[in-house]
Amino acid sequence: MHLREIDDAVLAGLGRLAIESRRGSREVLDTAKPFALVREQEPAGKSRGADVATVFLTGAECPYRCSMCDLWQYTLDRATMPGEITRQLSWVLDQLDSQVEARPEWIKLYNASNFFDSRAVPEDDHSTIAKQCESFQRVIVENHPKLVRPTVKQFASLLRGRLEIAMGLETVHPGSMLLLNKGFDLDDFARASEQLDAMQIDRRAFVMLQPPGTEPSESMEWAMKTLTFADAHGVRHCSIIPTRMGNGTMEWLKEQSLFIPPTFRQLEQTLELALDHFSEMVVTVDTWNLELLAGTCDRCIFERKERLERMNLQQCCLPEVNRPCDCAQG
Ligand code: SF4
Ligand SMILES: [Zn+2]
Repeated sequence: MHLREIDDAVLAGLGRLAIESRRGSREVLDTAKPFALVREQEPAGKSRGADVATVFLTGAECPYRCSMCDLWQYTLDRATMPGEITRQLSWVLDQLDSQVEARPEWIKLYNASNFFDSRAVPEDDHSTIAKQCESFQRVIVENHPKLVRPTVKQFASLLRGRLEIAMGLETVHPGSMLLLNKGFDLDDFARASEQLDAMQIDRRAFVMLQPPGTEPSESMEWAMKTLTFADAHGVRHCSIIPTRMGNGTMEWLKEQSLFIPPTFRQLEQTLELALDHFSEMVVTVDTWNLELLAGTCDRCIFERKERLERMNLQQCCLPEVNRPCDCAQG
């Protein structure tokens, strides 16, 4: 099966209102605490790991309308009030301090938007947030490449640890970039990387496997091209995300014959290739909800997912799992 050409009718279906019209409802959120807090190990380089707390903060929605995004579900339909983020962080620190283990080395402050959009994270809260994060060696926040502002440098200077900015690069495939509606181009990403490099701020990037507009037979090649672009622009860590449905517009793009979801086997092969290829840049796959991908079954999913998690952490290829099934042929 092949994808069809992108035409004006498709692009008209990716406008702001069209994307919003296909959405479901938001989650019921409580701004007294974050939407979720996860503690996990992740590779800090090719030979060591870090203990990381990932905080999913609740705040204002992102102003962009990327076609694959479903993060708006976890956001408010108003601006974040001053003090709401710091209150959520106090809750997080209390939770971490009630655990037997020492505090994690790193913290990810993910707000389903852009940390340096003052509607999402009020600038008046930056100094309190920096103080709350003073025990962490690395603070990772999400931000759009077009929102590298003077406040980024100011916030970095308030931190005791190192700031890392995670950006959704997604793909370098021109047709897919058009369909994703990201609101930036590769020059913008390169410029943002240069600016952050000059500020001595690390970069992480999200890379999509088989976004809309990318043929399944070429998706590994395009993922590798995207990882190579990220590596050339000094990205420290790339996380590969298998493109998922669920936000309405991805279903619509599938109906338009412009999107075919990737399989579990494609994700495995992409990580194998990337780990063999990149000697310095950390490359991982996002293992969230992998059971929803085609090409797995109840008999193999657990061991295959566990292998990917170990490959993520060890940053090397591990032998394939002996499968008791033939579900991965696709
Ligand atoms: S910039 Fe990020 S949060 Fe905003 S719409 Fe795009 S993917 Fe979603
Ligand atoms: Zn199976």
